[in-house]
Amino acid sequence: MDLTQPLHKALQERPGATALVCGERRSTFAQFVDRVARLAAVLQSLGLQPGDRVGLLALNSDRYVEYLYATWWAGGVINPVNIRWSAREVAYSLDDCDTRILLSDAHFGAVAQQQRELSRSLKTLVHFGDGPAPDGMADAEALMARAQPVPDARRGGADLAAVMYTGGTTGLPKGVMLTHGNLYTGQLSANMAATRPAEAVGLNMAPMFHVGGTGLTLQLMMRLCTQVIIPAFDEVKVLEAIQNERASETFMVPTMLKRLIEHPRFGEFDTTPLQLVLYGAAPIDDALLLQAIDKLPRAGFCQLYGMTELSPVVTVLPTWCHHPDQPAARRRSAGRPVPIAEVRIVDAEGHPVPHGTVGEIAARGPMVMAGYWNKPEQTAEVLRDGWMHTGDGGVMDADGFVYVVDRLKDMIVSGGENIYSAEVENAITQLPQVSMCAVVGVPDDQWGERVHAVVVLRAGEALSAEALVAHCKTLIAGYKCPRSVEFREEIPLSPAGKMLKYKLREPHWEGRARKVG
Ligand code: ATP
Ligand code: MG
Repeated sequence: MDLTQPLHKALQERPGATALVCGERRSTFAQFVDRVARLAAVLQSLGLQPGDRVGLLALNSDRYVEYLYATWWAGGVINPVNIRWSAREVAYSLDDCDTRILLSDAHFGAVAQQQRELSRSLKTLVHFGDGPAPDGMADAEALMARAQPVPDARRGGADLAAVMYTGGTTGLPKGVMLTHGNLYTGQLSANMAATRPAEAVGLNMAPMFHVGGTGLTLQLMMRLCTQVIIPAFDEVKVLEAIQNERASETFMVPTMLKRLIEHPRFGEFDTTPLQLVLYGAAPIDDALLLQAIDKLPRAGFCQLYGMTELSPVVTVLPTWCHHPDQPAARRRSAGRPVPIAEVRIVDAEGHPVPHGTVGEIAARGPMVMAGYWNKPEQTAEVLRDGWMHTGDGGVMDADGFVYVVDRLKDMIVSGGENIYSAEVENAITQLPQVSMCAVVGVPDDQWGERVHAVVVLRAGEALSAEALVAHCKTLIAGYKCPRSVEFREEIPLSPAGKMLKYKLREPHWEGRARKVG
């Protein structure tokens, strides 16, 4: 069970079909695999041994996909580096998993060069992509021009494929060890659960260093589909790709979906080629989902819930559940477990709770990570008897639909009552004046914590805190309504596009410990 298998299939089944599109550049599967096999030779000539980590620091591109697969072809383990990290943070992740070779594109030449001083583990810097290699960096394209293809190392299911860092939404990212078997079965079942045509054109704009972007690339490769790659999320580039490349499916986090449909030039483009919008990685507001369904009437919508540690998809809310004749409440669920995942809801002791009771979501199956790199205690905390404890609060109904209520870390405990920030946010974003909002718990002498809303208004709109609270009272219980409201220009987002609530909480909690979960 190796992730390079689709490349061998592609050579048999679709060698002349387009594999990758990136700007003006296109390659067929035959060209793609040839480059992968020669890049693998380059990596081996630079000293890569089976199981060695290879850092990859680059914007999304066709080259990124080639290096991802070349690392596996050469027998290596990919360490996708977060592009928003400072040079010091990059050094942390390289040293954390003892990465010796770092591949970087022209955008990150300077950060890569700094690693010579900052990183202890790094031995070899490799430049790829456009332009000549900076001083002291090996030039991948030049080396590749002379390289002969090497045979695929064909790793086994139990072999490590990636050390992939989590989104960093709640603090310092953790290096998740994913095997070939984890990612292979994980993506296979995600493909199955969100059934899709083989003749699709995929559009990848989610950052590839994050499991969302990598996952989509792997899924499309397994189906031998063309993939169109956008260096970084950009509304107009996305719209152009849908119209001009006839992209038929894509994955977006809710903040991307929002920016796309609200873009002033949205109406100028033909979006009818888009047949499937996969969304997830963070909770979606009902108002946003309805607006997106309305603005993209030809597209089916499908929600994915998962995490890096679970390779990543565990539940899928399929297209048919988004149909207007389906119960609206179900649209707020994250769907049913994928074929390979067992999911149950457990209490604080890890015992399963009955249907309808809120607890922690736990999952078991071949997609569960091998552990956190070099963090045995943190691994033991979350991985118990084969069950991955997600840190997400959830509830399962009698039909097996899972509702993610909140991250346990984001849940607010006020006067002994549990309040789910996502529920309050969902109420607030129903207000047409509101563009975005985050609800967090801040310290309160009487209640322990109180509900605090951070709200971004749409341009030109006005709204008072009183009106906002009065609106909430019509939708949710009084104790869940915000006690304080703060209007801001923006909410900090992670590189994957998730709201960084810990940053909003921090200033309120200075010097005080916050009890979680
Ligand atoms: P870190 O673990 O570093 O704090 P992170 O948890 O955001 O970051 P990821 O592995 O990218 O890292 O994200 C997994 C988390 O994203 C899940 O645990 C869950 O909280 C959230 N999530 C994913 N999909 C959904 C979804 N469909 N609905 C709600 N939340 C989701
Ligand atoms: Mg996490």
